[in-house]
Amino acid sequence: MERRKNYVERYGLTKIDYSCKENPFAGKVICGCCGSIFGRKVWNSTDERLRRYIWRCNRKYEIKGKKACDNKHIDDKVLYEAFINTFNMVLENKDYFKKKWEEHLDSDDLLKKYKAKQFIEIIEKAEPLVRFDADLLNILIEKMVVFDGGMIILSLMDGAVIECKI
Ligand SMILES: [Zn+2]
Repeated sequence: MERRKNYVERYGLTKIDYSCKENPFAGKVICGCCGSIFGRKVWNSTDERLRRYIWRCNRKYEIKGKKACDNKHIDDKVLYEAFINTFNMVLENKDYFKKKWEEHLDSDDLLKKYKAKQFIEIIEKAEPLVRFDADLLNILIEKMVVFDGGMIILSLMDGAVIECKI
């Protein structure tokens, strides 16, 4: 709860930014240029076949007089792929991550300790992901920071940071 409270304050989130089944990345995507939150927008919404979701910095178009953010938008698909690839990378390097999490089991930081135990349990019985899993995303990922030039940095709930090239 404390982590969540700090996170919500830091990024100025409101209740509607919280993730739900239909929009699992809500509130988790952060702009690497200005630190604002990324929001999801629909393109071509009149024709369902052409409908596309994109994410862009909420400061991209601000009212005149203020400096807007230059970060580029990214496609919804990219977030799904980044998460799946990151999870599979962690799984492939299971021994390395497990060793780190085992060290956290004695931590004074309650969240770190809790997450380490949870992560070990998950990774022990995990299979490589072929399809997106929203529950796993919520358990594992605190945020995904999107940088201009094709890079996303994923922060895991245990504090680990993983770079992902788009
Ligand atoms: Zn921005």
